[in-house]
Amino acid sequence: MSKSDTEIAELSFDLLSNVRVVMVNTTLPGNIGSAARAMKTMGLSDLVLVDPKKPIDEEAIARSSGATDILESAVQVSTLEEAIEDCGLVIGTSARSRSIPWPLLNPRQCAERAVLTSKRQKVAILFGREDRGLTNEELAKCQAHVHIPTNPDYSSLNIASAIQVLCYELRMAIETQAQPESEFWGVEWDKDLASAQELDGFIDHLESIMVTTGFLDPENPRYVMTRLRRLFNRSLPDKVEINVLRGILSSISRKIDP
Ligand code: SAH
Repeated sequence: MSKSDTEIAELSFDLLSNVRVVMVNTTLPGNIGSAARAMKTMGLSDLVLVDPKKPIDEEAIARSSGATDILESAVQVSTLEEAIEDCGLVIGTSARSRSIPWPLLNPRQCAERAVLTSKRQKVAILFGREDRGLTNEELAKCQAHVHIPTNPDYSSLNIASAIQVLCYELRMAIETQAQPESEFWGVEWDKDLASAQELDGFIDHLESIMVTTGFLDPENPRYVMTRLRRLFNRSLPDKVEINVLRGILSSISRKIDP
């Protein structure tokens, strides 16, 4: 179904304001400049830099090829948590498979989900370090991962190229989405998704109760918390559901330590 220019412009606005590109610990300022150019060509503008190794320099400005407004408005933070705290959907990019399987999207599926969520809430797509990508801990903060299909023997794209591919798919999703009113689960949801910060708060609370009850040995936690994080991320809890879960945890705390 094709859309009118006005519809595309309205949808583009949601994308512009609600999909954030997060670059974690980037080494080369030139890559940040190329990323800004990639974003601007596709209509995105929200760039957050988590603890870049070097500040934006002349090389970054040259590579941005005129997308200096994106560089100027880029927000710099020191932790990933700050970069995603207000986001309802967080998707991490990965050039290879990791130790524990995680829900995996291709770029097209990633864009469809991001565009649906971006109508109501902020979405973050995380990009990792040039040499070693995102850590397992960072990837565990994501509801899903996205992998750009590649030659299995040579699977790592330049980071700005990866940003270009995903931003292009976002643009295509806006222009071709068949059912713009449909939501993530096929119906319009009644509550907003819990933000990354709310989910973190719940996981920390759960972990402390598990330690108190003796279920979790802090000296030997293995992958228990990562697996639980994956479970809750996979189910995309909304704000009310997280509040109920936290209420249950508080009731357990009161029983243990009245
Ligand atoms: N050796 C690293 C590669 C990092 S490439 C690793 O194994 O993870 C730098 C960044 O570019 C990645 O963190 C990711 O954000 C992006 N990227 C590169 N290739 C990608 C791919 N095939 N799919 C998704 N993202 C990719």
